[in-house]
Amino acid sequence: MSPNSTRPPLGELLQRELRFQKGVGPRRAAELARTGLRTCDDLLHRFPIRFEDRSKLQRSAELRPGDMAALCGEVVSAGLRRTRRRGFSLFEMLVRDDGGMFRVVWMNQPFLQEVFSSGQRVAFYGKVEWREPGGLRLTNPQYELVDGGEGNNDEGMHTGRIVPIYERIGSLTTKQLRRLVYDVLRQLPPVLEDPLPPKLRGRHGLPGLRDALWGAHFPEPGTALDLLDRFRAPAQVRLILEELFLFQLGLGLRRRARGQERKPRVIRVDDAVRQAALAVLPFRLTPGQKTALRALVDDMCSPRPMNRLLQGDVGCGKTIVALLAALVAMENGLQVAFMAPTELLAEQHHLSIRRLLAPSRFQVVSLTGSAGAKARREAVTAIETGAADLVVGTHALVEREVRFRELGLVVIDEQHRFGVLQRATLRDKGCQPDVLVMTATPIPRTLALTSYGDLDVSVIRDLPPGRRPVRTKVEPESRRKAVYDFVRRRLRAGRQAYVVYPLVEESAKIDLKAATAMADTLATLFPDYAVGLLHGRMKSEERDTIMRRFEAGDVQLLVATTVVEVGVDVPNAAVMVVEHAERFGLAQLHQLRGRVGRGAHQSYCRLLYQGPLSDMARARLKALAGTSDGFEIAEQDLLLRGPGEMLGTRQSGVPTLRVAHLIRDHGLMETARREAFEALRQGDVSAPVLARLDATWMERFGLAGVG
Ligand code: ADP
Ligand code: MG
Repeated sequence: MSPNSTRPPLGELLQRELRFQKGVGPRRAAELARTGLRTCDDLLHRFPIRFEDRSKLQRSAELRPGDMAALCGEVVSAGLRRTRRRGFSLFEMLVRDDGGMFRVVWMNQPFLQEVFSSGQRVAFYGKVEWREPGGLRLTNPQYELVDGGEGNNDEGMHTGRIVPIYERIGSLTTKQLRRLVYDVLRQLPPVLEDPLPPKLRGRHGLPGLRDALWGAHFPEPGTALDLLDRFRAPAQVRLILEELFLFQLGLGLRRRARGQERKPRVIRVDDAVRQAALAVLPFRLTPGQKTALRALVDDMCSPRPMNRLLQGDVGCGKTIVALLAALVAMENGLQVAFMAPTELLAEQHHLSIRRLLAPSRFQVVSLTGSAGAKARREAVTAIETGAADLVVGTHALVEREVRFRELGLVVIDEQHRFGVLQRATLRDKGCQPDVLVMTATPIPRTLALTSYGDLDVSVIRDLPPGRRPVRTKVEPESRRKAVYDFVRRRLRAGRQAYVVYPLVEESAKIDLKAATAMADTLATLFPDYAVGLLHGRMKSEERDTIMRRFEAGDVQLLVATTVVEVGVDVPNAAVMVVEHAERFGLAQLHQLRGRVGRGAHQSYCRLLYQGPLSDMARARLKALAGTSDGFEIAEQDLLLRGPGEMLGTRQSGVPTLRVAHLIRDHGLMETARREAFEALRQGDVSAPVLARLDATWMERFGLAGVG
């Protein structure tokens, strides 16, 4: 399809490129394009950064010291005044309005000599002061030259109304941008096709598109300035909601398309399957786990492939829920792929799943990158022939040349995103498996609605019984000895401890050395205990050995790089010391801390930092010490870092938005989602809007990799 055929007939004007507008030459067009403004539509969807109420122009006679005042008048005289202080200048003007004369003063802006000359009409907005000598004056106000003259309605654009203030773009001043926007608005056709269904607009009392575009730039007199500044005037809300609505509509369409896919084989659950599941269950499920499991099994029994996200705080017990779902699939004669983000975690899962499934008839194999060639070949064959029922591995699992006999379920553990690519790979292999994604960290609701908006979501809110929150303290380097004494006391009480060392990609070698040195030092400082070292560069057998010894309690103190970040599960480990805590992100710290507090023992976390702390680092450590609730931490993280940083844009599905803001507008996002799904159900969205959206959604929201 040529790009033109998908172009909205939304008023040809809106799609017109800005370089065809009066006053926009090639240079300005380039400047505008550099900030993402190519078409008239782009321009109208770049909101002013704020507004000034110049509708109530004051008269100079009414000025009072301390006021913020908007005035308009004619320059009578202007000039630079030297002062006694060296290097200090005053530019002073005398201006006349209906009320008389007033003084305007700017400090240290001698270039204003070139700007003003007598006879000009100028609008001012600024602070009124009383200063001797001379009395009342406006000090350092914002100003704009207003072209006078008959038949020129400039005055109506720049003064006498609520006036939009734009962020300067290249050489374009706010005033030039205002004129450009005004010109474009005046060319709008009288009726614009409106993508929002009329019913929706009615329900929320929102203006039509044309009025909204005008109102977002040149608000009606009397519009509350504080609403405008919070982007909550109806015109703004309407445009924000429209953007979010179209985004959610695209998600809904995607969901609907997937809803038409059919699995080759539907799963059944009978008593035999239930018995088999109960037989491997080592404990009673919490209510949250039960609800989640029921949702999973319902999905699996449906003819459509499952696409579910299982959310829950670290340690809430997602693994066993996934494993029970896996059992259901295997009881139905289907194979299961269990994928972990790191080799270490895959190895751990492999061991614990093998242990849990030992009494069953199912074969578990592992397929990690570091397995020897022979082991790999054997595993691949077992998967192809169907001798293997469950395979544990890293992400590479589905991307490799592995063929399954009949893959029924894919579990992706501790991953934020299972991309289009992997899904497509699976489809190419002739599978339409159920997909279960489990997150490493709770995702703020705002993001759950966007980057995961196309998935069904289950949340486990409770923790297994007997868990106590980890006691967390932030400690400066000077307290190191006290921290060690504390660790020693816990070890003496029979607990085990982690000392986590950051490993940064850029300085991996040095960091690794530091971690190794740390292990040696600790071995000397803790002669009565066995100290182990675990890092990502070790061979997988070495790693296995250390992990097994730590799990068995033969190693009491484990120095580790962030390879222990996710998933590792040793309930007797009840102390964690994090070195250089200031270097970690909030979600990462929460993940790390999740390695302790997994058993019945009171657990402790000591965050050692090297000062001085940046404000951000201080905020992170404070947030972590302040709560153990992963959902709360996720919200804080979102505030501190912003959505793009938090999930990494693009492949993670954070949309590129023009007028909406994920955090500020999260309430509108919820509304948009409800409305979009409802509109799809009711068939309220016009066919051309749907068709256009389907064709342009990915590109429009910058979602290269969302499935
Ligand atoms: P996460 O959700 O972080 O992946 P895990 O699945 O690793 O958590 O579970 C954390 C720990 O809690 C494990 O040791 C697991 O055996 C234990 N666990 C999970 N569910 C329960 C339960 N219902 N009762 C008791 N212990 C449980
Ligand atoms: Mg886990």
